[in-house]
Amino acid sequence: MSLSATNGAGRHAIVLGGGIAGLVAARVLTDHFDRVTVLERDKPGSEGAFRAGVPQSRHAHVLLAKGHACVEQLFPGIGDEMEAAGAPLYDVGERCISIYPQGRLLRRRAGVELRLTSRMFRERLIRRRVVEGGRVSFREGVVVQGLVPEGCGVAGVRIRNVEGGAESTVFADLVVAACGREAPVVDWLVALGYPAPREVVVDAGLSYSSRWYRFPRDRRDFYAVAELPGAPDRPRGGVAFMTEHDTWVVTLMGTSRIRTPTDESSFNVWVRALDNPHIHELITEAEPISPIYGYARTDNRRRLFDRMPSFPERFVVLGDAAASLNPLYGQGMTVGALGALELGACLEEQRERVGGRSLTGLSRRFQRCLARMQEPAWVMATAEDFRWPGTSGERPGPAQKVAEAYFNIILRLATRDPVVHTAMLRVTHMVDPMSELFRPDIVSRVLECSTRPVRKAVGALVEQVAR
Ligand SMILES: Cc1cc2nc3c(=O)[nH]c(=O)nc-3n(C[C@H](O)[C@H](O)[C@H](O)COP(=O)(O)OP(=O)(O)OC[C@H]3O[C@@H](n4cnc5c(N)ncnc54)[C@H](O)[C@@H]3O)c2cc1C
Repeated sequence: MSLSATNGAGRHAIVLGGGIAGLVAARVLTDHFDRVTVLERDKPGSEGAFRAGVPQSRHAHVLLAKGHACVEQLFPGIGDEMEAAGAPLYDVGERCISIYPQGRLLRRRAGVELRLTSRMFRERLIRRRVVEGGRVSFREGVVVQGLVPEGCGVAGVRIRNVEGGAESTVFADLVVAACGREAPVVDWLVALGYPAPREVVVDAGLSYSSRWYRFPRDRRDFYAVAELPGAPDRPRGGVAFMTEHDTWVVTLMGTSRIRTPTDESSFNVWVRALDNPHIHELITEAEPISPIYGYARTDNRRRLFDRMPSFPERFVVLGDAAASLNPLYGQGMTVGALGALELGACLEEQRERVGGRSLTGLSRRFQRCLARMQEPAWVMATAEDFRWPGTSGERPGPAQKVAEAYFNIILRLATRDPVVHTAMLRVTHMVDPMSELFRPDIVSRVLECSTRPVRKAVGALVEQVAR
């Protein structure tokens, strides 16, 4: 433990980055530390305003039902604030029109609820709640430059104001890096003499273009429309959903390196060419309130910190800094929040196991738990991505092909079978684990509509999942 950090002021944790994962981590850390400080490069903006540190926030950001439940659990009543801003809680099965290459999903209540807002609005509400908690201080407008070593661990970070000036040091008992996918966390470790972790990248060449509109909420009986790209031959897609204050976001997605347009006429042509008429109707009636923004840094990128031969004590990495996922599946913020909760669970276990205030062994244990927790989301995102012929990266084994055939049938069934529809939504919203799709009643439905070779392969896959 760093004496400088505890010097008369109790135990101190610092969080690098005030994005979704960092804010949730800061809240979780207040249960374990006397003081928590968030160090963030961006200066505080006005409520809901764009900030440069999270350029992706200009695009549709769905917080999955599981992520929504986590945030509501940590910040009770936050949903009421969203409600007051015109972002209702709704059943995704009932209020969302979802179109896949396999068909249009059933529209019915499925018991899977979510509340959609813009990314920045959600982040500012969470930040405000963290501030109101009174145990977290924010230092904004500072850039973390590197780690301060101490023995076999980390004792703090070096920072500099965004305007420049001299470096200073912030000491802490625990440093939590939640500074997003672009931050040079690996360089910081290498500078201390650690080997770089292996990095796995899977890139389906996805691009996004988004525009924001004003449109009253009661004009439609749905709050969201999603027509996702579908491998191998439907690389174009689009989503639209209602956020706060009668605004809607329309995001176009192009995969397999087909770039989404950022000029108005091509944007409209793309929307008109979608299979569903809803997004086109919407943009025809709605008032555009933003330019069209493009984005293409969307590959899946995972750093295997858990497999490094050595890793510093009193330092952990979570959120996109550890693993960022193809955004098409809307998992990033939920996985970030779950990672922060995992850190809380590891700290709790540390207290029980080691007792006292020692954090020895926590870092490695946490990185292993985090990697395990992130695995299903990673598998789901990359498996889908590998269905596109142009996807680059390490290909998974042959079992993957069977899994693809299985999920293809699940999606087909979700267009007509209520039991499969509910199970599929609960799994894709991370409410239930993937194994729920291999329950006997679901497997028998899948087998009923499989060809003989697929039936045989599915049998083997089910055995594998059961093991
Ligand atoms: C186009 C697009 C669409 C997406 N859509 C969805 C979606 O629908 N649903 C979903 O769940 N996820 C989505 N994601 C993913 C989601 O944005 C990320 O998973 C999530 O933001 C990760 O949160 P984070 O806190 O780890 O990192 P970030 O949100 O990136 O925050 C990192 C923070 O660290 C700060 N920072 C960086 N470096 C430093 C430094 N050196 N010093 C100090 N501060 C620093 C940054 O300013 C930033 O505030 C999408 C991503 C993209 C690219």
